[in-house]
Amino acid sequence: MLKHFLDLATPGVRGLKPYQPGKPISELEREYGVSGIVKLASNENPLGPSPQAVEAITAALGDLGLYPDANGFDLKARLARRHGVGPECITLGNGSNDVLVLLAEAFLRPDLAAVFSQYAFAVYPIATQAAGAESRIAPAIAPDLPGAYGHDLDAMVGLLDDRTRLVFIANPNNPTGTWIAAERLESFVSSVPDNALVIVDEAYAEYLDDPAYPDTVSWLDRYPNLVVTRTFSKAFGLAGLRVGYAVSHPDVADLLNRVRQPFNVGTLGQVAALAALDDEAHLARSVAMNSGQRERLTAACAGWGLTVIPSACNFVLVDMGRPAEPIFEALLRAGVIVRPVANYGLPNHLRMSVGTPEETGRLIEALDPILSGA
Ligand SMILES: *Cc1c(COP(=O)(O)O)cnc(C)c1O
Repeated sequence: MLKHFLDLATPGVRGLKPYQPGKPISELEREYGVSGIVKLASNENPLGPSPQAVEAITAALGDLGLYPDANGFDLKARLARRHGVGPECITLGNGSNDVLVLLAEAFLRPDLAAVFSQYAFAVYPIATQAAGAESRIAPAIAPDLPGAYGHDLDAMVGLLDDRTRLVFIANPNNPTGTWIAAERLESFVSSVPDNALVIVDEAYAEYLDDPAYPDTVSWLDRYPNLVVTRTFSKAFGLAGLRVGYAVSHPDVADLLNRVRQPFNVGTLGQVAALAALDDEAHLARSVAMNSGQRERLTAACAGWGLTVIPSACNFVLVDMGRPAEPIFEALLRAGVIVRPVANYGLPNHLRMSVGTPEETGRLIEALDPILSGA
């Protein structure tokens, strides 16, 4: 890059490393000339969206010449009902990623700080750095302790002070798949001073069916500095449409809506999300298939002597016991895309999304000769 432009950029942007997405199928086709590719790199729902969502999209195609509803009236009303809050508590985002960035735009600046865990979702440092604020990273729970690789909430508390404005908790976390039970999380939230917002990112909430998983939205009355984010990209299978949202105190939502682009969620996203919420059977099918295939993939990894971090999500993080990059490359040659996580400081791990039974079979078949050294 021309030094001139680098000097012109804001200090936060100068040091920024862009998000590394999963490798798209089309790119692997172009580079390796392989076809029949299985992509297990971005934690998408392998069943795709509800057929009812696709129907709603089709029915809305005639409206594409018009701007979307800037206030997302129907979707916000539906989400408010789902969570038992008022629509004034909902902020819609172009994916929940958008909401995370809105939080950074509204609450961070160069002399302020955000706190999050080592191995936490990659968007937190990017949003923080783009705002020019300081990222304070708490070491994760050590690999040999219970809750290995998960958030160490005590270590996070130790990083809080009067310059802290945002605390990001991914529950469950990507890429580790680890999660925090209600009691522990609430005691953490209650210990955060009111100069900081606690953002609980629940992108994978739908995959958990454990009574210990927190009902965080019900805590909002007690902890007005809590913000819960959700997405339609994972279990609802709508990653391509970009719809997510935050549930928060109305005053926080008001501030987020001041920086939000008025038309950040398109017409098709709004109607598809509404229809997806009504198809509980599709969601249940997706979650059930995921549990079965996650178990199968975990067992296969154990069979090769690999350590899998127990996951509540639609992916597993696997310690390959040696540098993972060559294994990632060998899988690409076999037409299977998984996710290297060296950018998270985990060069020996691979993150593998859980696919359909066929896709999981392809992954296991592709891994077997690599790991058996055949
Ligand atoms: C995938 C993911 C998101 C957001 O995805 P969007 O498509 O932007 O909604 C947020 N947090 C975590 C932890 C994720 O893994």
